[in-house]
Amino acid sequence: MQAAFLIEPGKIELREIPIPEPGKGEIIAKVHTALTCGTDLKTYRRGHPKVTLPSPFGHEFSGTVYDVGQDVNGFREGDNLMTVFSAPCGNCYFCKRGDEHICAELKNSLMFGAYAEYIRIPEPIVSKNLFSKPHSLSFRQAALLEPLSCVMHGIDEASPSEDDTVLLIGAGTIGLLFTAVLKTFHPKKLIVAARGKERIAIAEKFGADIVIDAAKGDILKEVHNLTDGMGANVVIESTGSKEVWEKSIEYSSKNGKLILFGGLPEGSSVTYDAERIHYDHIRLQGVFHYRRKDVVAARELLIKGEIHLEPLITDEYSLGDLKKVFGFLDDKHGIKYAILP
Ligand SMILES: [Zn+2]
Ligand SMILES: [Zn+2]
Repeated sequence: MQAAFLIEPGKIELREIPIPEPGKGEIIAKVHTALTCGTDLKTYRRGHPKVTLPSPFGHEFSGTVYDVGQDVNGFREGDNLMTVFSAPCGNCYFCKRGDEHICAELKNSLMFGAYAEYIRIPEPIVSKNLFSKPHSLSFRQAALLEPLSCVMHGIDEASPSEDDTVLLIGAGTIGLLFTAVLKTFHPKKLIVAARGKERIAIAEKFGADIVIDAAKGDILKEVHNLTDGMGANVVIESTGSKEVWEKSIEYSSKNGKLILFGGLPEGSSVTYDAERIHYDHIRLQGVFHYRRKDVVAARELLIKGEIHLEPLITDEYSLGDLKKVFGFLDDKHGIKYAILP
């Protein structure tokens, strides 16, 4: 089979390797649709602290069961699948407290290699985070399960109400997914700060009430005007920029919630005005990864068909075009691409 490997930052190689055999509890899936992701792009550009290169590449996909290992229950050859690329161990200190997103074994459970004809799904994922894909849901939409699970976690922490003005900063894939999901909560006002024509257009299509062009507009002034000077009740940072992290508290109302979603590089520090945090009672909340209940919620939302995420997928290419696709992404062209091996 053909499989893409990231050899070193900036270098993708297609290799011919044998189709893997399933071990106990494992499934070999035939990949139908893989999606590119911001994390893949970051890894492509500068490597990743949790990935040793050369490494199989890609982690968002949907597909079909090709081969089933011993002791696998609930799946048969030919079943259509949707999944995420990790699973909590269930035994560590954090898992036992229900904090599966920070499972101590998380990095050992990661599954890479979605940019390939076949992929091995390890036992912890098969038993905890692998689901059947209903016919009504397309393979492309089903492949969005992983990023949408992260977003469902963020939404759970933000818990927006119909009284809230919500400000979302950043309209990459994650920001746009937030936009679509937030809309289903019918906030009083959904304001999105986005950069680039393509992203602004999708944010509008996904239901943002007001889209601020972050390249031109003054977010603070706009939020002030749109909230009668009160600020946003919920602010979600989804850019992964230190500058935006620090600025985002300025947009928050008193008793507001600030969700810090876009991760910063290791070793970064940020500074906040202590007076605002204390006297204005602002809650700062970092959000990382997802728990099983977020994956379940994401799958249910996809199946319900209430949100229409097709515009996130800019175009479709074959595995042989992967290098070209990462060139597009590196040039900031397009949102997500579907790769059909
Ligand atoms: Zn991803
Ligand atoms: Zn654990």
